Amino acid sequence: MRIEQLGEGTPEIAVVAAIHGDEPCGVRAIERLLATSPAVERPVKFVIANEEALDRGVRYVEEDLNRAFPGDPDADTHEGRLAAALAQEVRDCTTLSLHSTQSYAEPFALVDTVDAVARSICPYLPVSVLVETEVESDGRLIEYPHVLEVECGLQGSDEAADNAVDLVYGFLEATGALPDDEPVAGYDRGEVEVFRLGRPVPKDGGDRFEVFAENFERVAAGERFAAVDGRELVADEPFYPVLMSAYGYENVFGYRGERIGVLDA
Ligand SMILES: [Zn+2]
Repeated sequence: MRIEQLGEGTPEIAVVAAIHGDEPCGVRAIERLLATSPAVERPVKFVIANEEALDRGVRYVEEDLNRAFPGDPDADTHEGRLAAALAQEVRDCTTLSLHSTQSYAEPFALVDTVDAVARSICPYLPVSVLVETEVESDGRLIEYPHVLEVECGLQGSDEAADNAVDLVYGFLEATGALPDDEPVAGYDRGEVEVFRLGRPVPKDGGDRFEVFAENFERVAAGERFAAVDGRELVADEPFYPVLMSAYGYENVFGYRGERIGVLDA
């Protein structure tokens, strides 16, 4: 784990990259940002989490770090120990964690629960979608208070790294870390649609997968939305696909989502 800091004092703001070693966008964004050494009003901590997995270009070395929290300093696995160290690093921080996906090119944000922190930060981020995960505890960083996760775009793409830069600047503006006169991402702050993450859509075996539905676009009851080995899956009831892709996850296509409203800009 590599830690860098901008500004003096004990940071209450953190940006985390490389929870997954095969998602380099966050690291590229942090390196680009640090290279410009922007002046900050509040100290900010930058964490490159899983350097070992990053060096190898793999998601993780021994287990998924984003299922390993709270971890333990004496855990048997690299990620189990790393989870404990990372949780300690961001314990008192409002934290932005940078990820990328195989399912969606546009950046979007995820929180465990839409709370005051999410409401105050999301309008500053270049996102039009916020996903409330409310998952049963399964060891993710997002379950900690004051943690927002962002999906910056498609894994390994230059666009994801560019988006990550904009997301970090937006986050630093939202948390008051950047001086007011600092120009930030000049996007149109429209409304943010909020979706709640529901049940996963299992693959149930097979080895050839297709997805016909678009993420965050409503699938009607009776509509075919995916296929396993040419056999089509049809929706029993309407839903909004979230993080759905043919090959992004081994055992599931993604998730069923429900649209629950909008956050006003
Ligand atoms: Zn990730």
